[in-house]
Amino acid sequence: MLISAVALSGAVALSAQTLDTSLKPMTRQRADMLLGRTAITGPVKSLIPGEHMGALDTLETGNPEVRIVLFADNTWKYIRNADILATEKYFNENWNEYPDAYHLDYSNLPERTTLWLVDDNSQYCCPNPVAVYSKFGYRHKRRHQGVDLPLKTGDPVRVAFDGKVRVSKYYHGYGNLIIVRHANGLETFYAHLSARDVNVGDWVTAGQVIGKGGSTGRSSGPHLHFETRYKGYAFDPEWLIKFPEGHLRNATFTLKRKYLNPASHYVPSSDDEEEEILLAEQEERAEAARKAQQQASVQYHTIRSGDTLGKLAVKYHTTVNQLCKWNNITPKTTLRIGRKLRVH
Ligand SMILES: [Zn+2]
Repeated sequence: MLISAVALSGAVALSAQTLDTSLKPMTRQRADMLLGRTAITGPVKSLIPGEHMGALDTLETGNPEVRIVLFADNTWKYIRNADILATEKYFNENWNEYPDAYHLDYSNLPERTTLWLVDDNSQYCCPNPVAVYSKFGYRHKRRHQGVDLPLKTGDPVRVAFDGKVRVSKYYHGYGNLIIVRHANGLETFYAHLSARDVNVGDWVTAGQVIGKGGSTGRSSGPHLHFETRYKGYAFDPEWLIKFPEGHLRNATFTLKRKYLNPASHYVPSSDDEEEEILLAEQEERAEAARKAQQQASVQYHTIRSGDTLGKLAVKYHTTVNQLCKWNNITPKTTLRIGRKLRVH
């Protein structure tokens, strides 16, 4: 079987010397057996760069969405068929050259979204596994929408997940910037690069070198500025990745809307739950205070001869409609003398 350039498009760096066309294709039965692997549970280790070097061949499986890549070291992995991925909405809608391709209001973002980060046929590799030098959040009153990961100029920068390159461009602030969109809608940003090795529209797989580290744009020294975004909004990458090891905290991630606030930042799960309880308590107290205040401001009027709803509305700076609502009456209700009406 010959290597299919389409199936491998951007998947693995492939040089002519590594081709070995004498390899026999895997049988359908064998492929089906292999496809029944168990689900991944976190934490998920980062791929070791260079481990899977030298792709030999791609094989069809029973499932047209999935193909198998065989490597020179006798290992193999699944890749998703890029031709089918290309038809999915995330690779077609809101696809432009701007850092924020969506321009959504914060209020239109989902309360919570569960994202599959890795599964049997998509992997993960830490772009630069070092200690975070500068965290996500506000820094000298400027919002910092990613994490800064020090490196040396020229060091390889690897893409975190499989995906398609949406932006490969120089920006005044970001310097050389690459944005990759992934099949779950997540986007990852790689900024201040000294070189960009991929073009818009390229398909990339986790661990592939997409550029070289540098200090271009607004940068005070060589580092990778790494962002994770969803629907155009950045959230702290430390929610996903444990630095300096670079491992994924879990195979799935529940993204809460509050994480998309630029002032938020990663907190360990126990703290996060405590924070939620605290917020709920604060909310309850605020609600009780609102009710108490409302109660305190309630005012009554005792009906006297000559009172009409119209006159009372003027006197108490309200409307006949509001008076009717408060007292469960209609404008035609007869006002008995001595009756107490709520007027505020
Ligand atoms: Zn930064």
